Amino acid sequence: MKIKSATFVMSNSDVAKCPKQNIPEYAFIGRSNVGKSSLINMLMQRKNLAKTSGRPGKTQLINHFLINENWFLVDLPGYGYARVSKSAKKVFQKFITQYFQKRRQLVLAFVLIDCRHEPQKIDLEFMQWLGENQIPFSIVFTKADKLKPDAISRNIDHYTEKMLETWEEMPTYFITSSSKNIGRDEMLDYINAINSELSGL
Ligand code: GDP
Repeated sequence: MKIKSATFVMSNSDVAKCPKQNIPEYAFIGRSNVGKSSLINMLMQRKNLAKTSGRPGKTQLINHFLINENWFLVDLPGYGYARVSKSAKKVFQKFITQYFQKRRQLVLAFVLIDCRHEPQKIDLEFMQWLGENQIPFSIVFTKADKLKPDAISRNIDHYTEKMLETWEEMPTYFITSSSKNIGRDEMLDYINAINSELSGL
């Protein structure tokens, strides 16, 4: 898929106020600092579409971007950061929960995982919760440039083993690096294939 346009539409913390258009929507979520903003900028080939930050927890809203006038990319707040107070965290989690449970346009969530790390409880629990709520998701392993190919394979094998303790199969996953432009075509083609399928319905 060629990105012809990528436009910021709105930010809010209320799912009822999200855009009304009935077009497919793809949500991006992961622990803060996982590389979500960098990935979105890489996919869209825009330097500052999503704000990259050294300070975790800065983007705490539901951010809608209209892509090629026919689908939404949704940048959701990072979860599991430490610097936000407990009460702020509670509110923030509630609106993410509501977003996933109520947003009819949502087609798929991309759950971002740093490929260097051991499977983390918070990510596994979050995917479990998506499953329980019947929300389709794919895994996006980030920062692949930071490891040698054999270490990436080893970590993904390990992740797969861990997932298979609770899931019947490993979900579709992508290996990406925003600094080396890895995984871009694969992810965009995947979105494109789903969009084509949906428009043919
Ligand atoms: P976010 O908090 O999930 O939006 O993460 P950011 O996109 O702000 O990235 C967090 C940090 O990881 C920043 O210092 C980025 O430069 C770095 N980073 C993000 N993606 C990559 C990547 O693919 N490769 C490398 N080497 N660093 C990355």
